[in-house]
Amino acid sequence: MKKEIPALYGSLVFNDKVMRNKLPKDVYKALKKTIENGTHLELEVANSVAVAMKEWAVENGATHFTHWFQPMTGFTAEKHDSFITPTENGEVIMDFSGKELVKGEPDASSFPSGGLRATFEARGYTAWDPTSPAFIKDGTLYIPTAFCSYGGEALDKKTPLLRSMEALSQEAVHLLHILGNTEVTHVSTTIGPEQEYFLVDKDLYEQRRDLVFTGRTLLGAPAPRGQEMEDHYFGALKPRVAAYMHDLDEELWKLGIPAKTKHNEVAPSQHELAPIFDTANVAVDHNQLTMEVMKKVADKHGLVCLLHEKPFEGINGSGKHNNWSISTNTGENLLDPGKTPAKNIQFLVFLMAVIKAVDEYADLMRISAASAGNDHRLGGNEAPPAIVSIFLGDELTAILKSIEDDTYFGKHQRVQLETGAHVLPHFVKDNTDRNRTSPFAFTGNKFEFRMLGSSASVATPNIILNTAVAEALAQFSRELSGTAPKDMEQAVHELIKRAIKKHKKVIFNGNGYTEEWVAEAEKRGLYNLASTPDCLPQILAEKNVELFTRHHIFTREELASRYEIFLENYVKTVAIEAKTLREMLAKDFLPAVSRYASSVSGEALSMKTFVPDLSTDSARKLVSFLGASYETIAGALDLLDQEILALDEKTSLLEAANYCRKTILATMEELRSAADQAEAKIPEEELPYPTYDALLFSV
Ligand code: ADP
Ligand code: MG
Repeated sequence: MKKEIPALYGSLVFNDKVMRNKLPKDVYKALKKTIENGTHLELEVANSVAVAMKEWAVENGATHFTHWFQPMTGFTAEKHDSFITPTENGEVIMDFSGKELVKGEPDASSFPSGGLRATFEARGYTAWDPTSPAFIKDGTLYIPTAFCSYGGEALDKKTPLLRSMEALSQEAVHLLHILGNTEVTHVSTTIGPEQEYFLVDKDLYEQRRDLVFTGRTLLGAPAPRGQEMEDHYFGALKPRVAAYMHDLDEELWKLGIPAKTKHNEVAPSQHELAPIFDTANVAVDHNQLTMEVMKKVADKHGLVCLLHEKPFEGINGSGKHNNWSISTNTGENLLDPGKTPAKNIQFLVFLMAVIKAVDEYADLMRISAASAGNDHRLGGNEAPPAIVSIFLGDELTAILKSIEDDTYFGKHQRVQLETGAHVLPHFVKDNTDRNRTSPFAFTGNKFEFRMLGSSASVATPNIILNTAVAEALAQFSRELSGTAPKDMEQAVHELIKRAIKKHKKVIFNGNGYTEEWVAEAEKRGLYNLASTPDCLPQILAEKNVELFTRHHIFTREELASRYEIFLENYVKTVAIEAKTLREMLAKDFLPAVSRYASSVSGEALSMKTFVPDLSTDSARKLVSFLGASYETIAGALDLLDQEILALDEKTSLLEAANYCRKTILATMEELRSAADQAEAKIPEEELPYPTYDALLFSV
């Protein structure tokens, strides 16, 4: 019999319930303390946890364990070791020690380190992250770990994320204490990442080298029907998609991933999955797992799940919405306006801190969403522009304005406090006036960062947001420290007044997709970093290096390594795409064009022989068009070849990246346009790969 959902949920996770059952009481307590407060874990405790974990894993069919980590590529990595340990009499036992649980030493020399790992020490080590639960997948016990070099430099995305959560917690607690909320001892970042994806038929997918090698189509004339009917969004699920989603939910639930909503998205074959939010660290791990499980389950259904940001030209691409908030260990969401004036003050301070953070570090927020894939989305007419601005909605904007102007807040006058501080009335969560064009929107009790690409790790934006907000909170604490409790309201009022004056330029409630906004943003002095090579150098801008080093999130060297890896990744991605396009055109498409052109001319000739006065004008026109296309494409292909070679001569990665963007991608675009026009004239059965019609309406 099938398990009921509640029994199924988390059945493959070494979660709190299992720990309580399996661990001696004192060990359980010690581990809980570590998980909740980040305290050090003694090796004895780790040993005891390891024994229980192994027992539980073996009972549930696991034979291996792996330290699961997230190198700087944004993917996950794992190396599996079995539990078997030989005994003296030549038999084996299943064994697992605290040392093996706590620390691993993968030979990590093949992971990019961006120059961080000195050549004399190529090994890195992985360290157990007890705050993210271990789980079983495909017969292996997965232990979430951080990945560092021997010098202690972070080689992954988890370490800086944990550091940033800690920094934010410290600064938030400090400020809350100053504001008189002294019960709070810990603050955690919560995130809920909404994940978009496409599903295509696996057989068709396999016939397209571009999809196989690059994850997106590099060619393809538009289908006669795209998303113009607006009938796909929230439309009824087709049976094959419904079956996939059903399986996907079950697999995710087993892993304790709280998949909550699923629906069709705007483009044909596009869908979305959203989980219930969780602590940032766990949610990041879960999102990585979700992407993996999405692909695995698709395979079982004869489908392929595309996580690329722009798999198809001419229709929407896929993003990931990072819903972000901060909540206290006393159970308060700090971005929830709350009902009482005291709560309002606290809310306004934290809201203001986020506004300040995003304004001052908008370039970093932009970087967190930068990738070759996402460059095809951002700034297009479907995704947020590359300009980072904040949507607050009219009501909140008016409240901040009234604070700035020292005027009453019109219709909510009566909530003015006697002290003269203007505070927020009970704020009704308004779901109706959400501005979908804003890259960073306040949505009632959280912020939603919408620039992120679908394939990205959600770690990066949260590292940046946490750190930038920690910095803003630290500055606010300095401004408020020493204020007597009776003067606090007024002091907060003044603080917000100063801050809003300075940072209101980042607030924009209008339509972010318009040309007017681009011009207006420039006037306001906001960044408009259009592409990945445009924004990446900002990683090393002095203000940003200062931010990260001050809060001990990244050292200068760690930042330099990320800069190098991001650039390298961009260049490699474009180079692979260029080579794939060359292959498809030279080996598949051009031969198909000439085959079809000669068959048309052959048929016309034979018809002409048969009926001498028959007009063959249209055949001649078609053949001459195809012939001209052939020449154009062949010529541009020669150019692309030279450009690919020239890429190797670039002396710096930044130069190479700019060359990719300005030259190679432009040539690819020209090639695509010529090929797509020719493709539209060639019957489907003569084409070497399935068309958009087939791909987008196959499932
Ligand atoms: P939408 O209308 O965009 O679907 P929802 O309220 O359903 O908005 O939330 C979308 C995502 O935001 C979900 O993943 C949800 O769990 C998450 N979310 C809700 N509250 C919070 C919070 N306090 N912190 C982080 N994420 C949250
Ligand atoms: Mg959303």
